[in-house]
Amino acid sequence: MSTTRTVALIAHDQKKDDLVAFVREHEAAFAKYELVATGTTGSRVSEACPGLSITRKKSGPLGGDQQIGAMIAEGQIEAVVFFVDPLTPMPHDVDVKALMRLAIVYDIPIALNRRSASMLLASLPRV
Ligand code: PGA
Repeated sequence: MSTTRTVALIAHDQKKDDLVAFVREHEAAFAKYELVATGTTGSRVSEACPGLSITRKKSGPLGGDQQIGAMIAEGQIEAVVFFVDPLTPMPHDVDVKALMRLAIVYDIPIALNRRSASMLLASLPRV
């Protein structure tokens, strides 16, 4: 399995502002990694932090979560930061679960809220 330094960023709609604020706050740290994001999340983060290099996949409900799950299975993802909205039903709930399942299967660190994301970022290997 290849060793990469790519971090995946995903946020549900109600959590996008939080993720954008988190990435801005830690922009220097994120700048050391390749970033991949679901479509809308990637757009929002790119607008806020134009200096970051972000590969955008499809929007989550249109397959973006599955695309990032496939990258996990291919050994291309170092860590996942996924700000989940636990209070809103999602049409693509099965895709979200599938992504989390693959992170577990491949033992990829996945942070589902801000505090765990801070801890994860602090513990990633420096590149
Ligand atoms: P989005 O997808 O970044 O395209 O909104 C995230 C999701 O809802 O899983």
